[in-house]
Amino acid sequence: MASQETVDHKYVYDFSEGNKDLKDLLGGKGANLAEMTNLGLPVPPGFTITTEACQAYLATGREPDGLAGQIERHLESLERAMGKRLGDPQDPLLVSVRSGAKFSMPGMMETVLNVGLNDQSVEGLARQAGGATGQAASGGATGQAASGGATGQAASGGATGQAASGGADRFAWDSYRRLIQMFGKTVCEVPGEEFEHALDEIKSAKGTHNDLDLDADDLRGLVDAYKKIFLKHTGREFPQQPREQLDLAIRAVFESWNAERAVLYRRQERIPADLGTAVNVVSMVFGNLGPDSGTGVAFTRDPGSGAQGIYGDYLANAQGEDVVAGIRNTVPLQELEQLDKSSYDELLGIMARLEEHYKDLCDIEFTIERGKLWMLQTRVGKRTAAAAFVIAGQLVDEGLIDLDEALHRVNGAQLAQLMFPRFQIDHEFEAVATGIGASPGAASGTVVFTSARAVELAAEGQSVILVRRETNPDDLNGMIAAQGILTSRGGKTSHAAVVARGMGKTCVSGADAIDVNVPAKRFTVAGQTVNEGDVVSIDGTTGKVYLGEVPVMPSEVVQYFEGSLDPEHIDNALVRAVHRIMTHADGKRRLAVRTNADTGADAARARRFGAEGIGLCRTEHMFLGDRRELVERLILARAEGEREAALAALLPLQRDDFGEIFRAMDGLPVTVRLIDPPLHEFLPPLEQLAVNVAVAQERGEDVAKEEALLAAVRRMHEENPMLGLRGVRLGLVIPGLFAMQVRAIAEAAVACARGGGVAKPEIMVPLVGAVQELETVRAEAEKIIAEVVGDSGVEVLIGTMIEVPRAALTAGQIAEAAQFFSFGTNDLTQMAWGFSRDDVEGAFFWRYLELGIFGISPFESIDRDGVGRLVRIAAEEGRAARPGLKLGVCGEHGGDPDSVHFFHEVGLDYVSCSPFRVPVARLEAGRAAVETGGSDSR
Ligand code: ADP
Ligand code: MG
Ligand code: MG
Repeated sequence: MASQETVDHKYVYDFSEGNKDLKDLLGGKGANLAEMTNLGLPVPPGFTITTEACQAYLATGREPDGLAGQIERHLESLERAMGKRLGDPQDPLLVSVRSGAKFSMPGMMETVLNVGLNDQSVEGLARQAGGATGQAASGGATGQAASGGATGQAASGGATGQAASGGADRFAWDSYRRLIQMFGKTVCEVPGEEFEHALDEIKSAKGTHNDLDLDADDLRGLVDAYKKIFLKHTGREFPQQPREQLDLAIRAVFESWNAERAVLYRRQERIPADLGTAVNVVSMVFGNLGPDSGTGVAFTRDPGSGAQGIYGDYLANAQGEDVVAGIRNTVPLQELEQLDKSSYDELLGIMARLEEHYKDLCDIEFTIERGKLWMLQTRVGKRTAAAAFVIAGQLVDEGLIDLDEALHRVNGAQLAQLMFPRFQIDHEFEAVATGIGASPGAASGTVVFTSARAVELAAEGQSVILVRRETNPDDLNGMIAAQGILTSRGGKTSHAAVVARGMGKTCVSGADAIDVNVPAKRFTVAGQTVNEGDVVSIDGTTGKVYLGEVPVMPSEVVQYFEGSLDPEHIDNALVRAVHRIMTHADGKRRLAVRTNADTGADAARARRFGAEGIGLCRTEHMFLGDRRELVERLILARAEGEREAALAALLPLQRDDFGEIFRAMDGLPVTVRLIDPPLHEFLPPLEQLAVNVAVAQERGEDVAKEEALLAAVRRMHEENPMLGLRGVRLGLVIPGLFAMQVRAIAEAAVACARGGGVAKPEIMVPLVGAVQELETVRAEAEKIIAEVVGDSGVEVLIGTMIEVPRAALTAGQIAEAAQFFSFGTNDLTQMAWGFSRDDVEGAFFWRYLELGIFGISPFESIDRDGVGRLVRIAAEEGRAARPGLKLGVCGEHGGDPDSVHFFHEVGLDYVSCSPFRVPVARLEAGRAAVETGGSDSR
């Protein structure tokens, strides 16, 4: 009784019931179809089955209770609205069944068109279409006569000209063959090539390459062939029941969420694995009804450069899939103006309206059915990094968004991409082909033709360019492995282009001068043959393809950061937009950004990139090269005097190193880390020494020194050097080592001050786990500093790294002895997880990522729950013990966008990262400051 009274959980929404903010529930496609419906735009009626239904299905393996009934009710009301019944033999309603998750996953999941066709309804569809064609015949014929010459549609003109009903038959059978093909492939896992093969056979029998040359009889034959293929692979006839077709297609869309390529794509794009997809059931409109019909995709601005003005591809007499798959050559959208002015004008009006409504670049899919425009999809469009900046700037100018929002719309990963080098083209290099600059960057590499080979060579460390006629979702692995992607077909909206842009990978698409022969592993272009293994270079901005390896130069954005391009005086939309947004970010951010730099040159460059000091100056490189010998003497010293002599020899060298850095960072703080690695790392490896000793003995040479070194290496050997004699422990064990470094720092600072500069040294003690360690080092250091500094006015701070978990947990005590903390998140991650950094990433992280134990390596982006918690505890307890304690972070995480947001939240004072990451950290720190939370800028 009770159960009958329970109202079903709502799993199905009519388009009129949703809106754009319901992406979690309705998926992006469904939410935006609803939004367009409610804006009064021409959207074919339909309904959306929620992601919750999909999640329930995937969890239990069956449709949740109540779903079937709700689908039935929505289907009935759709049938009423359309005045047709699904698959009615006389006048069938046909629907598409379309996947659509919260985040767009182009081409990753499935769509089936023309559901509801069977052996009977195909005839009904033909009769209805014929009737309609009859009606519009004169209009259509005139239109065609008028435009036929101009648009060169002679091929289809012949077929259509035969008889109106011939065209209608052709259309109906073309639709039916597409259903069997898509249904077979998507729902029943029939290999897609078999269908393509059958299609190719019929075309070659007819002596044509063009689908449009196939007439109704050919397509009828093709349907028979397809049905046989279907039977062969599934052991059953193609299902004739429309409702069964619908249910199976819905289920297949649910299941496509877990298809291998979808899983891979999600991992790459860091999309959570448990969202599920919604399913949209949409009444069909037909772009394949003849030359006055067609289908297209478009962007409201150029998604490559951000330039204003519509950008799109149109294909007459085709169903949607044809455009996206890049199967036939499309025409630029602008040509639609000649073909069908009223639809073109209406479309432009709608695109303008969408931009104003979404306040952003939108992309759309549309179909024209005999002169009537239908909107099939819209969303805030993917774009290149350059376009993201340019468009954000334009939208501010247009008054649609403010600068905070503009800052929110771009991100550090995009900025990092814009800092990639460009090709340096001079007369020596001439492009052999030009395609479409589908995804920017400059890539050179070895040509490969298959995904498998790309993966293989990339694993060997080679840079590869994947060359294909067109890519499909099965090429994903190869695309991930490749440096760049080159295709001979397809536009800016082809699979290759969309996926490459999403990955930030260089791509040139549609370079049709290239003739790709995959089986023979070669392509020909301009009379030359390029084989697998040869090197080519592709420019994803200009679309140019070069043979051989082209040298590269810094990007404009890097030139701007370096100060060699003045944004106020150059006509470069990108540089101006970057300048404007960076300026805003700098004005808003609370986190300071420092750099990790060990040399004056690095420091100077980072300073030009906006670094406000050095957060980590490693001193170990100062013990390398010709100074190794001094380190050896230090290690081998038997008597006090020998060690002191070695240290005394190192002192002036170190002082010069520091002096150079202080001068480059004049006026800004410089954090110097005392020597950190185990000293035996500076000695030659054991095997090499053993060989040297043996060889020298053989020759009867004096081997005393080698033998001593060998003995030292044996003595100092550690099972676990990362946890051994290093960091502060060295300072406590080796007399005079830290003292020499402290003296060198203090003397260099004083010299800098005497020369009129301002040095602000901060001495950082590594690997401290207990306050007593720090106190001991500090007591000695302070004595030396007081002695050196005198009345020079130089102030030297002494602080510690927090990189051992115990330090984080006793931060309150440690803060009593530290004037600053710097979180060494690499070691902290290593020790918090118990991961040996150098070993684990290659050994088993792939499995951890696969299992979802973490979504990204904790060495790449900070683990907020564990390592992050240690940072938070240390920050809070450190500041409680010493109000105003300066807190920073050094290590890779300082330049990672997500981590920067975390460090902002925790209230650190600065992050420090490598010079090239400094602009990225500045931008992200600004974003963190203005971020309102919630909205997603993916
Ligand atoms: P994807 O997410 O891969 O773009 P879609 O669900 O958008 O898949 O559909 C694939 C193609 O089929 C698109 O070009 C789309 O415009 C077209 N299409 C989908 N539904 C319909 C429909 N009801 N009528 C006509 N074309 C459709
Ligand atoms: Mg699809
Ligand atoms: Mg689509």
